[in-house]
Amino acid sequence: MDDCIFCKMANGEIRPDVVYEDDQVLAFRDLNPQAPTHVLVIPRRHIGTLNELGPSDAELVGRLFLAAREVAQAEGIAERGYRTLINCNAEAGQSVFHVHLHVLGGRRMHWPPG
Ligand code: AMP
Repeated sequence: MDDCIFCKMANGEIRPDVVYEDDQVLAFRDLNPQAPTHVLVIPRRHIGTLNELGPSDAELVGRLFLAAREVAQAEGIAERGYRTLINCNAEAGQSVFHVHLHVLGGRRMHWPPG
């Protein structure tokens, strides 16, 4: 997608603050962090929302969560605790339409989220 900022990060056109990457997944620090650790894990391939994932993406979805686990360990929050979440579409507050898994930690999380 030509106008997708996360695609530009995935293909190297824009270089975010990368904390993890492999052939399918990229993880970088959120520009507007909501916790001491706030990382976004994205698939390199453009997928707009969670709704667009299909059965053939099962491995990719697993890779996103395995990357989140790697990030949490590297950030030193794995044992204390952290939150992973995906916002899907308007009511959930999705603002960038390239699927991304938020990884938040380093402070106590509240429930329910706002
Ligand atoms: P969401 O609201 O779930 O779509 O999350 C989008 C996230 O992307 C927000 O937390 C933004 O702060 C973050 N974001 C937007 N642009 C950038 C950017 N250029 N670099 C890093 N994070 C960004």
